[in-house]
Amino acid sequence: MAAQLLRTPLLSTAVIRSASTGTLEVKGPLSFWGGGRVNPLDTKKAEPVYEPATGRVLCDMVPCGPDEVEQAVKNAHAAYLKWSKLAGMERARVMLEAARIIREQRDEIAKVEVINNGKSITEARVDIDVAWQCIEYYAGLAGTLSGQHIQLPGGSFAYTRREPLGVCVGIGAWNYPFQIAAWKSAPALACGNAMVFKPSPMTPVTAVMLAEIYAQAGVPEGLFNVVQGGAETGSLLCHHPMVAKVSFTGSVPTGKKIMEMSAKGVKPVTLELGGKSPLIIFKDSELENAVKGALMANFLSQGEVCCNGTRVFVQREIMPQFLEEVVKRTKAIPVGDPLLDGTRMGALISRPHLERVLGFISEAKKQGAKVLCGGEPFVPSDSKLKGGYFMTPCVLDNCRDDMTCVKEEIFGPVMSVLPFDTEEEVIERANNTTFGLAAGVFTRDVARAHRVAENLQAGTCFINNYNISPVEVPFGGYKMSGFGRENGQVTIEYYSQLKTVVVEMGDVESLF
Ligand code: NAD
Repeated sequence: MAAQLLRTPLLSTAVIRSASTGTLEVKGPLSFWGGGRVNPLDTKKAEPVYEPATGRVLCDMVPCGPDEVEQAVKNAHAAYLKWSKLAGMERARVMLEAARIIREQRDEIAKVEVINNGKSITEARVDIDVAWQCIEYYAGLAGTLSGQHIQLPGGSFAYTRREPLGVCVGIGAWNYPFQIAAWKSAPALACGNAMVFKPSPMTPVTAVMLAEIYAQAGVPEGLFNVVQGGAETGSLLCHHPMVAKVSFTGSVPTGKKIMEMSAKGVKPVTLELGGKSPLIIFKDSELENAVKGALMANFLSQGEVCCNGTRVFVQREIMPQFLEEVVKRTKAIPVGDPLLDGTRMGALISRPHLERVLGFISEAKKQGAKVLCGGEPFVPSDSKLKGGYFMTPCVLDNCRDDMTCVKEEIFGPVMSVLPFDTEEEVIERANNTTFGLAAGVFTRDVARAHRVAENLQAGTCFINNYNISPVEVPFGGYKMSGFGRENGQVTIEYYSQLKTVVVEMGDVESLF
Protein backbone atom coordinates (compact mmCIF):
# COMPACT_ATOMS: atom_id res chain seq x y z
CA MET A 1 0.00 0.00 0.00
CA ALA A 2 1.43 3.42 -0.94
CA ALA A 3 1.85 5.52 2.19
CA GLN A 4 0.13 8.88 2.35
CA LEU A 5 2.73 11.59 2.96
CA LEU A 6 2.30 14.84 4.88
CA ARG A 7 4.79 17.33 3.54
CA THR A 8 3.88 20.41 5.59
CA PRO A 9 6.67 20.77 8.16
CA LEU A 10 5.48 20.60 11.76
CA LEU A 11 7.45 23.75 12.54
CA SER A 12 5.39 25.76 10.07
CA THR A 13 2.04 24.87 11.66
CA ALA A 14 0.21 27.49 13.71
CA VAL A 15 -0.29 25.08 16.60
CA ILE A 16 3.49 24.65 17.04
CA ARG A 17 4.29 28.32 16.56
CA SER A 18 1.78 29.43 19.20
CA ALA A 19 2.60 26.62 21.67
CA SER A 20 3.00 27.37 25.35
CA THR A 21 3.03 25.36 28.57
CA GLY A 22 -0.13 23.31 28.86
CA THR A 23 -1.60 24.13 25.45
CA LEU A 24 0.19 22.07 22.81
CA GLU A 25 -1.45 19.05 21.20
CA VAL A 26 0.48 17.55 18.31
CA LYS A 27 -1.87 15.74 15.95
CA GLY A 28 -0.99 13.60 12.98
CA PRO A 29 1.80 11.15 12.22
CA LEU A 30 5.30 11.47 13.67
CA SER A 31 7.18 8.93 11.59
CA PHE A 32 9.00 10.22 8.52
CA TRP A 33 10.38 8.65 5.38
CA GLY A 34 10.27 9.20 1.64
CA GLY A 35 10.20 12.97 2.11
CA GLY A 36 7.19 13.35 4.40
CA ARG A 37 5.41 12.32 7.59
CA VAL A 38 3.74 8.97 7.08
CA ASN A 39 0.34 7.88 8.40
CA PRO A 40 0.71 4.79 10.59
CA LEU A 41 -0.53 1.45 9.27
CA ASP A 42 -1.94 0.40 12.62
CA THR A 43 -2.89 2.68 15.51
CA LYS A 44 -3.88 -0.08 17.94
CA LYS A 45 -0.62 0.13 19.87
CA ALA A 46 -0.65 3.94 20.16
CA GLU A 47 0.70 5.23 23.48
CA PRO A 48 0.05 8.64 25.04
CA VAL A 49 3.05 10.96 25.37
CA TYR A 50 2.91 13.38 28.31
CA GLU A 51 4.05 16.95 28.81
CA PRO A 52 6.22 16.60 31.95
CA ALA A 53 5.46 20.11 33.27
CA THR A 54 1.69 19.59 33.31
CA GLY A 55 0.99 15.86 33.02
CA ARG A 56 -1.27 16.57 30.00
CA VAL A 57 -1.23 14.35 26.91
CA LEU A 58 0.92 16.04 24.26
CA CYS A 59 0.48 13.52 21.44
CA ASP A 60 0.19 9.85 20.62
CA MET A 61 3.24 7.78 19.79
CA VAL A 62 2.27 5.08 17.27
CA PRO A 63 4.97 2.42 17.03
CA CYS A 64 6.15 1.27 13.60
CA GLY A 65 5.77 -2.42 12.80
CA PRO A 66 7.80 -4.65 10.46
CA ASP A 67 6.28 -3.31 7.20
CA GLU A 68 6.95 0.29 8.18
CA VAL A 69 10.51 -0.43 9.31
CA GLU A 70 11.01 -2.19 5.97
CA GLN A 71 9.79 0.87 4.06
CA ALA A 72 11.97 3.25 6.06
CA VAL A 73 15.10 1.12 5.63
CA LYS A 74 14.47 0.66 1.88
CA ASN A 75 13.96 4.41 1.46
CA ALA A 76 17.18 5.00 3.34
CA HIS A 77 19.06 2.55 1.17
CA ALA A 78 17.86 4.17 -2.06
CA ALA A 79 18.89 7.60 -0.76
CA TYR A 80 22.28 6.25 0.36
CA LEU A 81 23.03 5.10 -3.20
CA LYS A 82 22.61 8.69 -4.43
CA TRP A 83 24.09 10.60 -1.49
CA SER A 84 27.23 8.47 -1.22
CA LYS A 85 28.13 9.33 -4.83
CA LEU A 86 28.17 13.08 -4.18
CA ALA A 87 31.43 14.86 -3.51
CA GLY A 88 32.01 15.62 0.16
CA MET A 89 31.78 19.33 -0.66
CA GLU A 90 28.31 18.80 -2.17
CA ARG A 91 27.13 16.97 0.94
CA ALA A 92 28.62 19.78 3.02
CA ARG A 93 26.57 22.39 1.18
CA VAL A 94 23.28 20.63 1.97
CA MET A 95 24.28 20.05 5.59
CA LEU A 96 25.23 23.70 6.04
CA GLU A 97 21.79 24.65 4.76
CA ALA A 98 20.22 22.30 7.35
CA ALA A 99 22.34 23.93 10.08
CA ARG A 100 21.19 27.35 8.88
CA ILE A 101 17.50 26.38 9.04
CA ILE A 102 17.95 25.00 12.56
CA ARG A 103 19.64 28.24 13.63
CA GLU A 104 16.77 30.23 12.15
CA GLN A 105 14.09 28.12 13.90
CA ARG A 106 16.09 27.52 17.07
CA ASP A 107 13.61 29.14 19.45
CA GLU A 108 10.60 27.17 18.11
CA ILE A 109 12.47 23.85 18.21
CA ALA A 110 13.70 24.62 21.73
CA LYS A 111 10.15 25.41 22.85
CA VAL A 112 8.81 22.08 21.61
CA GLU A 113 11.78 20.29 23.19
CA VAL A 114 10.87 21.88 26.53
CA ILE A 115 7.20 20.94 26.22
CA ASN A 116 8.09 17.32 25.39
CA ASN A 117 11.07 16.84 27.73
CA GLY A 118 10.48 19.17 30.70
CA LYS A 119 13.93 20.81 30.77
CA SER A 120 14.31 24.59 31.07
CA ILE A 121 14.15 26.75 27.94
CA THR A 122 17.59 28.16 28.70
CA GLU A 123 19.09 24.68 28.47
CA ALA A 124 16.98 23.63 25.48
CA ARG A 125 18.25 26.61 23.47
CA VAL A 126 21.82 25.47 24.18
CA ASP A 127 20.89 21.93 23.06
CA ILE A 128 19.58 23.21 19.74
CA ASP A 129 22.67 25.40 19.28
CA VAL A 130 24.88 22.39 19.93
CA ALA A 131 22.85 20.45 17.33
CA TRP A 132 23.40 22.93 14.48
CA GLN A 133 27.03 23.39 15.50
CA CYS A 134 27.48 19.63 15.22
CA ILE A 135 25.98 19.61 11.71
CA GLU A 136 28.20 22.54 10.70
CA TYR A 137 31.27 20.84 12.15
CA TYR A 138 30.73 17.59 10.22
CA ALA A 139 29.79 19.53 7.08
CA GLY A 140 33.28 21.03 7.43
CA LEU A 141 34.82 17.57 7.64
CA ALA A 142 32.81 16.07 4.73
CA GLY A 143 35.17 17.53 2.15
CA THR A 144 38.28 16.37 4.01
CA LEU A 145 37.59 12.62 4.00
CA SER A 146 40.60 10.99 2.48
CA GLY A 147 42.86 7.97 2.58
CA GLN A 148 46.57 7.28 2.55
CA HIS A 149 49.01 6.61 -0.28
CA ILE A 150 51.52 3.86 0.48
CA GLN A 151 54.59 3.35 -1.73
CA LEU A 152 55.54 -0.22 -2.60
CA PRO A 153 58.64 -1.63 -4.39
CA GLY A 154 58.99 -1.23 -8.17
CA GLY A 155 56.74 1.77 -8.44
CA SER A 156 53.75 -0.20 -7.21
CA PHE A 157 51.61 1.40 -4.58
CA ALA A 158 48.49 1.06 -2.49
CA TYR A 159 45.97 3.59 -1.37
CA THR A 160 43.15 3.62 1.11
CA ARG A 161 39.68 5.04 0.61
CA ARG A 162 37.37 6.06 3.41
CA GLU A 163 33.94 4.78 2.35
CA PRO A 164 30.50 5.01 3.96
CA LEU A 165 28.86 2.02 5.64
CA GLY A 166 25.36 2.27 4.15
CA VAL A 167 22.17 2.53 6.18
CA CYS A 168 22.99 3.44 9.79
CA VAL A 169 20.46 3.18 12.59
CA GLY A 170 20.37 5.70 15.43
CA ILE A 171 18.46 4.89 18.62
CA GLY A 172 18.07 7.72 21.11
CA ALA A 173 17.32 8.38 24.77
CA TRP A 174 14.75 10.93 25.99
CA ASN A 175 17.05 13.38 27.77
CA TYR A 176 18.50 15.21 24.71
CA PRO A 177 16.03 14.25 21.96
CA PHE A 178 17.00 16.72 19.21
CA GLN A 179 20.67 16.87 20.10
CA ILE A 180 21.12 13.08 20.08
CA ALA A 181 19.49 12.90 16.63
CA ALA A 182 21.92 15.58 15.40
CA TRP A 183 24.99 14.03 17.07
CA LYS A 184 24.27 10.74 15.28
CA SER A 185 23.05 11.98 11.91
CA ALA A 186 25.68 14.69 11.30
CA PRO A 187 28.76 12.43 11.14
CA ALA A 188 26.73 9.66 9.46
CA LEU A 189 25.56 11.96 6.66
CA ALA A 190 28.94 13.67 6.30
CA CYS A 191 30.49 10.26 5.55
CA GLY A 192 27.88 9.49 2.86
CA ASN A 193 25.57 7.22 4.87
CA ALA A 194 21.79 7.34 5.26
CA MET A 195 20.11 7.06 8.67
CA VAL A 196 16.96 5.62 10.17
CA PHE A 197 16.52 7.19 13.60
CA LYS A 198 14.29 5.94 16.38
CA PRO A 199 13.71 8.46 19.15
CA SER A 200 12.65 7.44 22.64
CA PRO A 201 8.90 6.72 22.77
CA MET A 202 8.67 9.41 25.47
CA THR A 203 10.11 12.18 23.25
CA PRO A 204 8.94 11.52 19.69
CA VAL A 205 8.42 15.06 18.40
CA THR A 206 11.61 16.99 17.67
CA ALA A 207 13.46 14.25 15.74
CA VAL A 208 10.70 14.57 13.12
CA MET A 209 11.46 18.28 12.90
CA LEU A 210 15.09 17.43 12.17
CA ALA A 211 13.95 15.07 9.38
CA GLU A 212 11.82 17.85 7.90
CA ILE A 213 14.71 20.30 8.08
CA TYR A 214 17.10 17.92 6.31
CA ALA A 215 14.43 17.46 3.60
CA GLN A 216 14.01 21.24 3.25
CA ALA A 217 17.79 21.61 3.00
CA GLY A 218 17.79 19.29 -0.01
CA VAL A 219 18.98 15.82 1.06
CA PRO A 220 17.70 13.03 -1.23
CA GLU A 221 14.29 11.71 -0.12
CA GLY A 222 14.81 8.98 2.45
CA LEU A 223 18.26 10.05 3.60
CA PHE A 224 17.22 10.76 7.20
CA ASN A 225 14.12 8.90 8.38
CA VAL A 226 12.33 8.67 11.69
CA VAL A 227 10.51 5.56 12.86
CA GLN A 228 8.61 5.81 16.12
CA GLY A 229 8.42 3.01 18.65
CA GLY A 230 9.96 1.35 21.67
CA ALA A 231 11.89 -1.88 22.20
CA GLU A 232 10.02 -3.85 19.52
CA THR A 233 10.64 -1.32 16.77
CA GLY A 234 14.24 -0.88 17.94
CA SER A 235 14.83 -4.59 17.76
CA LEU A 236 13.38 -4.77 14.20
CA LEU A 237 15.93 -2.12 13.21
CA CYS A 238 18.89 -3.87 14.85
CA HIS A 239 18.03 -7.18 13.15
CA HIS A 240 17.35 -5.72 9.69
CA PRO A 241 19.78 -7.21 7.16
CA MET A 242 20.10 -3.94 5.20
CA VAL A 243 21.25 -2.04 8.30
CA ALA A 244 25.04 -1.65 8.38
CA LYS A 245 25.57 -0.04 11.79
CA VAL A 246 23.73 0.79 15.00
CA SER A 247 24.54 3.81 17.14
CA PHE A 248 22.75 3.69 20.47
CA THR A 249 22.32 6.13 23.35
CA GLY A 250 20.59 4.79 26.44
CA SER A 251 20.97 2.60 29.48
CA VAL A 252 23.51 -0.18 30.05
CA PRO A 253 20.92 -3.04 30.07
CA THR A 254 19.46 -1.94 26.71
CA GLY A 255 22.97 -1.34 25.33
CA LYS A 256 23.85 -4.98 26.03
CA LYS A 257 20.76 -6.12 24.10
CA ILE A 258 21.62 -3.84 21.18
CA MET A 259 25.09 -5.33 21.05
CA GLU A 260 23.75 -8.89 21.15
CA MET A 261 21.25 -8.22 18.36
CA SER A 262 23.83 -6.43 16.22
CA ALA A 263 26.32 -9.25 16.76
CA LYS A 264 24.00 -11.61 14.85
CA GLY A 265 24.56 -9.53 11.71
CA VAL A 266 28.18 -8.66 12.63
CA LYS A 267 27.20 -4.98 12.64
CA PRO A 268 29.47 -2.44 14.29
CA VAL A 269 27.86 -0.60 17.21
CA THR A 270 28.49 2.63 19.03
CA LEU A 271 27.21 2.46 22.62
CA GLU A 272 26.72 5.68 24.60
CA LEU A 273 25.48 4.35 27.92
CA GLY A 274 24.94 5.41 31.50
CA GLY A 275 27.33 6.60 34.18
CA LYS A 276 27.97 7.31 37.85
CA SER A 277 30.82 9.69 37.41
CA PRO A 278 33.14 11.00 40.15
CA LEU A 279 33.93 14.66 40.72
CA ILE A 280 36.99 15.18 42.95
CA ILE A 281 37.48 18.48 44.76
CA PHE A 282 40.86 19.01 46.41
CA LYS A 283 41.35 21.42 49.29
CA ASP A 284 43.50 23.75 47.15
CA SER A 285 40.64 24.31 44.67
CA GLU A 286 39.21 27.72 44.00
CA LEU A 287 36.13 27.02 46.13
CA GLU A 288 33.59 29.12 44.29
CA ASN A 289 34.46 27.48 40.97
CA ALA A 290 34.40 24.04 42.58
CA VAL A 291 30.91 24.69 43.95
CA LYS A 292 29.69 25.99 40.59
CA GLY A 293 31.27 22.93 38.95
CA ALA A 294 29.47 20.59 41.34
CA LEU A 295 26.13 22.23 40.51
CA MET A 296 26.81 21.99 36.76
CA ALA A 297 27.82 18.36 37.29
CA ASN A 298 24.55 17.45 38.99
CA PHE A 299 21.60 19.65 38.15
CA LEU A 300 21.54 20.26 34.39
CA SER A 301 18.37 18.80 32.81
CA GLN A 302 16.94 17.91 36.26
CA GLY A 303 19.97 15.65 36.78
CA GLU A 304 18.93 13.51 33.80
CA VAL A 305 22.37 13.64 32.18
CA CYS A 306 24.46 10.55 31.47
CA CYS A 307 27.85 12.11 32.24
CA ASN A 308 26.81 13.86 35.47
CA GLY A 309 29.36 13.84 38.29
CA THR A 310 27.02 12.52 40.96
CA ARG A 311 29.67 11.16 43.34
CA VAL A 312 31.21 14.37 44.65
CA PHE A 313 34.40 13.59 46.60
CA VAL A 314 35.46 16.56 48.75
CA GLN A 315 38.75 16.71 50.66
CA ARG A 316 37.86 16.59 54.35
CA GLU A 317 39.44 19.91 55.37
CA ILE A 318 37.14 21.97 53.12
CA MET A 319 33.96 19.90 53.54
CA PRO A 320 32.11 22.36 55.86
CA GLN A 321 32.66 25.40 53.59
CA PHE A 322 31.86 23.36 50.48
CA LEU A 323 28.59 22.01 51.90
CA GLU A 324 27.46 25.38 53.19
CA GLU A 325 27.93 27.00 49.78
CA VAL A 326 26.58 24.11 47.70
CA VAL A 327 23.42 23.85 49.84
CA LYS A 328 22.84 27.61 49.73
CA ARG A 329 23.02 27.62 45.94
CA THR A 330 21.01 24.43 45.49
CA LYS A 331 18.17 25.84 47.60
CA ALA A 332 18.16 28.93 45.39
CA ILE A 333 17.61 27.03 42.11
CA PRO A 334 14.27 28.24 40.67
CA VAL A 335 12.13 25.16 39.90
CA GLY A 336 8.96 25.63 37.85
CA ASP A 337 7.50 26.39 34.43
CA PRO A 338 10.31 25.32 32.12
CA LEU A 339 9.28 27.80 29.43
CA LEU A 340 9.97 30.80 31.69
CA ASP A 341 13.38 32.40 31.20
CA GLY A 342 13.99 32.62 34.94
CA THR A 343 13.47 28.89 35.56
CA ARG A 344 16.63 26.86 36.05
CA MET A 345 15.06 23.44 36.72
CA GLY A 346 11.98 22.02 35.03
CA ALA A 347 10.10 18.74 35.39
CA LEU A 348 11.40 15.18 35.30
CA ILE A 349 10.48 13.09 32.28
CA SER A 350 7.61 11.03 33.75
CA ARG A 351 5.66 10.26 36.90
CA PRO A 352 7.24 6.76 37.28
CA HIS A 353 10.72 8.23 36.81
CA LEU A 354 10.05 10.93 39.45
CA GLU A 355 8.89 8.23 41.86
CA ARG A 356 11.99 6.15 41.12
CA VAL A 357 14.27 9.12 41.87
CA LEU A 358 12.39 9.88 45.13
CA GLY A 359 12.69 6.16 45.96
CA PHE A 360 16.50 6.40 45.73
CA ILE A 361 16.38 9.28 48.24
CA SER A 362 14.21 7.29 50.73
CA GLU A 363 16.59 4.37 50.44
CA ALA A 364 19.61 6.65 50.93
CA LYS A 365 18.02 7.95 54.15
CA LYS A 366 17.43 4.40 55.38
CA GLN A 367 21.07 3.57 54.65
CA GLY A 368 22.24 6.54 56.76
CA ALA A 369 22.52 9.47 54.35
CA LYS A 370 21.49 12.90 55.56
CA VAL A 371 19.36 15.09 53.28
CA LEU A 372 20.84 18.60 53.48
CA CYS A 373 18.25 20.07 51.15
CA GLY A 374 15.55 19.14 48.63
CA GLY A 375 14.57 15.65 47.62
CA GLU A 376 10.82 16.31 47.91
CA PRO A 377 8.07 16.33 45.30
CA PHE A 378 7.36 19.94 44.37
CA VAL A 379 4.04 21.49 43.35
CA PRO A 380 4.52 24.93 41.77
CA SER A 381 1.97 27.61 42.68
CA ASP A 382 0.91 28.06 39.03
CA SER A 383 -2.26 25.94 38.75
CA LYS A 384 -1.49 24.63 35.26
CA LEU A 385 1.63 22.91 36.67
CA LYS A 386 -0.22 20.98 39.41
CA GLY A 387 0.02 17.70 37.51
CA GLY A 388 3.72 18.15 36.61
CA TYR A 389 6.60 15.89 37.65
CA PHE A 390 8.66 18.35 39.69
CA MET A 391 10.98 17.82 42.63
CA THR A 392 13.41 19.95 44.58
CA PRO A 393 17.12 19.38 43.86
CA CYS A 394 18.76 17.34 46.59
CA VAL A 395 22.16 17.24 48.33
CA LEU A 396 22.99 14.11 50.34
CA ASP A 397 25.64 14.14 53.08
CA ASN A 398 26.97 11.28 55.25
CA CYS A 399 27.28 9.11 52.17
CA ARG A 400 29.43 5.98 52.00
CA ASP A 401 30.75 4.21 48.89
CA ASP A 402 28.58 1.13 49.54
CA MET A 403 25.25 2.98 49.53
CA THR A 404 22.82 2.48 46.65
CA CYS A 405 22.68 6.23 45.96
CA VAL A 406 26.46 6.22 45.46
CA LYS A 407 26.61 3.06 43.37
CA GLU A 408 23.65 3.34 41.00
CA GLU A 409 22.76 5.85 38.31
CA ILE A 410 19.79 7.82 39.75
CA PHE A 411 19.27 10.06 36.70
CA GLY A 412 17.67 12.80 38.77
CA PRO A 413 18.77 15.95 40.67
CA VAL A 414 20.54 14.14 43.51
CA MET A 415 24.14 14.91 44.53
CA SER A 416 25.91 12.49 46.87
CA VAL A 417 28.82 14.07 48.78
CA LEU A 418 31.68 11.92 50.12
CA PRO A 419 34.73 13.01 52.16
CA PHE A 420 38.27 11.86 51.28
CA ASP A 421 41.76 12.36 52.68
CA THR A 422 44.45 11.50 50.10
CA GLU A 423 44.87 11.55 46.33
CA GLU A 424 45.73 7.86 46.18
CA GLU A 425 42.64 6.92 48.19
CA VAL A 426 40.24 9.06 46.16
CA ILE A 427 41.47 7.74 42.81
CA GLU A 428 40.93 4.18 43.96
CA ARG A 429 37.44 4.99 45.24
CA ALA A 430 36.54 7.04 42.14
CA ASN A 431 37.48 4.11 39.89
CA ASN A 432 35.62 1.55 42.00
CA THR A 433 32.61 1.39 39.66
CA THR A 434 31.59 -0.55 36.57
CA PHE A 435 30.83 2.75 34.77
CA GLY A 436 33.42 5.01 33.12
CA LEU A 437 31.70 7.78 31.22
CA ALA A 438 33.20 10.93 32.74
CA ALA A 439 35.12 12.31 35.73
CA GLY A 440 36.19 15.69 37.04
CA VAL A 441 38.91 17.17 39.21
CA PHE A 442 39.20 20.60 40.81
CA THR A 443 42.64 21.66 42.02
CA ARG A 444 45.10 24.52 41.54
CA ASP A 445 48.01 22.09 41.37
CA VAL A 446 48.70 21.61 37.65
CA ALA A 447 50.75 18.45 38.06
CA ARG A 448 48.13 16.87 40.28
CA ALA A 449 45.32 17.77 37.87
CA HIS A 450 46.96 15.90 34.98
CA ARG A 451 48.12 13.00 37.18
CA VAL A 452 44.59 12.48 38.46
CA ALA A 453 43.11 12.79 34.95
CA GLU A 454 45.58 10.16 33.74
CA ASN A 455 44.61 7.75 36.49
CA LEU A 456 40.83 8.11 36.28
CA GLN A 457 39.12 5.38 34.26
CA ALA A 458 36.73 7.52 32.24
CA GLY A 459 36.17 8.52 28.61
CA THR A 460 36.17 12.23 29.47
CA CYS A 461 38.00 13.96 32.35
CA PHE A 462 37.21 17.57 33.13
CA ILE A 463 39.83 19.71 34.90
CA ASN A 464 38.46 22.70 36.82
CA ASN A 465 35.05 22.58 35.14
CA TYR A 466 32.36 20.00 34.39
CA ASN A 467 29.86 19.04 31.65
CA ILE A 468 31.44 20.99 28.83
CA SER A 469 30.80 19.18 25.53
CA PRO A 470 31.85 21.23 22.50
CA VAL A 471 31.28 19.35 19.25
CA GLU A 472 35.00 19.39 18.39
CA VAL A 473 35.73 17.19 21.41
CA PRO A 474 35.24 13.39 21.34
CA PHE A 475 32.67 12.08 23.81
CA GLY A 476 32.13 8.48 24.95
CA GLY A 477 32.66 5.91 27.63
CA TYR A 478 35.12 3.50 29.21
CA LYS A 479 34.09 0.23 30.85
CA MET A 480 30.32 -0.42 30.92
CA SER A 481 29.54 3.15 29.87
CA GLY A 482 30.10 1.97 26.31
CA PHE A 483 32.50 2.36 23.42
CA GLY A 484 32.85 4.28 20.22
CA ARG A 485 32.81 8.06 20.26
CA GLU A 486 30.51 10.89 19.25
CA ASN A 487 31.72 14.35 18.21
CA GLY A 488 35.25 15.27 17.20
CA GLN A 489 37.18 14.09 14.15
CA VAL A 490 37.49 10.54 15.45
CA THR A 491 33.75 9.87 14.95
CA ILE A 492 34.36 9.81 11.19
CA GLU A 493 36.00 6.43 11.83
CA TYR A 494 32.82 5.11 13.45
CA TYR A 495 30.66 5.98 10.42
CA SER A 496 32.99 4.85 7.65
CA GLN A 497 35.09 1.89 6.60
CA LEU A 498 38.54 1.72 5.11
CA LYS A 499 39.13 0.12 1.73
CA THR A 500 42.67 -0.73 0.65
CA VAL A 501 43.44 -0.74 -3.07
CA VAL A 502 46.72 -2.40 -4.09
CA VAL A 503 48.11 -1.42 -7.51
CA GLU A 504 50.74 -3.48 -9.37
CA MET A 505 52.88 -1.45 -11.76
CA GLY A 506 55.09 -4.33 -12.97
CA ASP A 507 54.55 -7.94 -13.97
CA VAL A 508 52.89 -10.54 -11.80
CA GLU A 509 55.46 -12.73 -10.07
CA SER A 510 53.69 -16.04 -9.92
CA LEU A 511 54.77 -18.95 -7.75
CA PHE A 512 52.86 -21.30 -10.03
P1 NAD B 1 16.70 3.13 27.55
O1 NAD B 1 17.87 2.22 27.46
O2 NAD B 1 15.51 2.70 28.32
O3 NAD B 1 16.15 3.48 26.08
C1 NAD B 1 16.97 4.07 25.11
C2 NAD B 1 16.40 3.78 23.74
O4 NAD B 1 16.46 2.39 23.46
C3 NAD B 1 14.94 4.17 23.56
O5 NAD B 1 14.78 4.73 22.28
C4 NAD B 1 14.22 2.84 23.67
O6 NAD B 1 12.98 2.81 23.01
C5 NAD B 1 15.21 1.91 22.99
N1 NAD B 1 15.09 0.50 23.36
C6 NAD B 1 14.69 -0.01 24.55
N2 NAD B 1 14.75 -1.37 24.51
C7 NAD B 1 15.21 -1.69 23.28
C8 NAD B 1 15.48 -2.94 22.62
N3 NAD B 1 15.29 -4.11 23.23
N4 NAD B 1 15.92 -2.92 21.35
C9 NAD B 1 16.14 -1.73 20.72
N5 NAD B 1 15.88 -0.54 21.27
C10 NAD B 1 15.43 -0.51 22.54
O7 NAD B 1 17.27 4.52 28.09
P2 NAD B 1 16.44 5.85 28.47
O8 NAD B 1 15.70 5.62 29.73
O9 NAD B 1 15.72 6.35 27.27
O10 NAD B 1 17.63 6.88 28.72
C11 NAD B 1 18.31 6.98 29.94
C12 NAD B 1 19.64 6.27 29.88
O11 NAD B 1 20.38 6.74 28.75
C13 NAD B 1 20.51 6.55 31.08
O12 NAD B 1 21.13 5.36 31.50
C14 NAD B 1 21.55 7.52 30.53
O13 NAD B 1 22.74 7.54 31.25
C15 NAD B 1 21.71 7.05 29.15
N6 NAD B 1 22.25 8.11 28.28
C16 NAD B 1 23.54 8.01 27.83
C17 NAD B 1 24.09 9.02 27.05
C18 NAD B 1 25.51 8.94 26.54
O14 NAD B 1 25.83 9.68 25.62
N7 NAD B 1 26.36 8.11 27.10
C19 NAD B 1 23.31 10.14 26.72
C20 NAD B 1 22.00 10.20 27.18
C21 NAD B 1 21.49 9.17 27.97
